[in-house]
Amino acid sequence: MQKIIAQDLSFELYLPASDIQKRVQALGAAIRQQYENKNPIFIGVLNGAFLFTADLVRACQISCEVDFIKIASYAGTTSTNKMKKAIGLSKDIKQRHIILVEDIVDTGNTFSKLLPDLQVLEPASIAIATLLLKPEALQYPNLPIQFVGFEIPNKFVIGYGLDYNEVGRQLEGIYQLAE
Ligand code: 5GP
Repeated sequence: MQKIIAQDLSFELYLPASDIQKRVQALGAAIRQQYENKNPIFIGVLNGAFLFTADLVRACQISCEVDFIKIASYAGTTSTNKMKKAIGLSKDIKQRHIILVEDIVDTGNTFSKLLPDLQVLEPASIAIATLLLKPEALQYPNLPIQFVGFEIPNKFVIGYGLDYNEVGRQLEGIYQLAE
């Protein structure tokens, strides 16, 4: 079992790079079927989705545009109470098909706050593509999560863009917190 020590925590290999790459190709094919000739805008959510976005847009092999946003959290005392706002969107998304690309959807709280901000910009459609989804943690079942790489247990993971205090983003596989 391949192990990674990140600061004070130990992680074990959970999804090898080859499994991720295979799944990303399959997601790309599914997106191609739905979005060919629609010239969608992929919007990656930084920082975690930078690798997934890069691999996914190449796997789709359709004409598209790519943008990135960052989520700024402010006010509130807990992570879920915090106001979340998307910053950095540089494109006009009116009447465009949008695919939001995320590394992981956990509670869904981030997207539940973000989607209304994007909907007022009147896109033609919004879909979410997430590499990882934690179904046990999800509190917003109505989010438009149309493309899921892997459903995983409610355990902390790093790698393939995901970090623990900025450690581990460069790893090609996904690593799960060891028991
Ligand atoms: P949500 O708003 O869906 O609860 O959380 C989404 C954000 O929480 C993700 O974009 C990510 O930044 C962080 N997150 C949730 N679960 C994990 C995890 O297992 N590992 C890491 N590194 N981040 C996580």
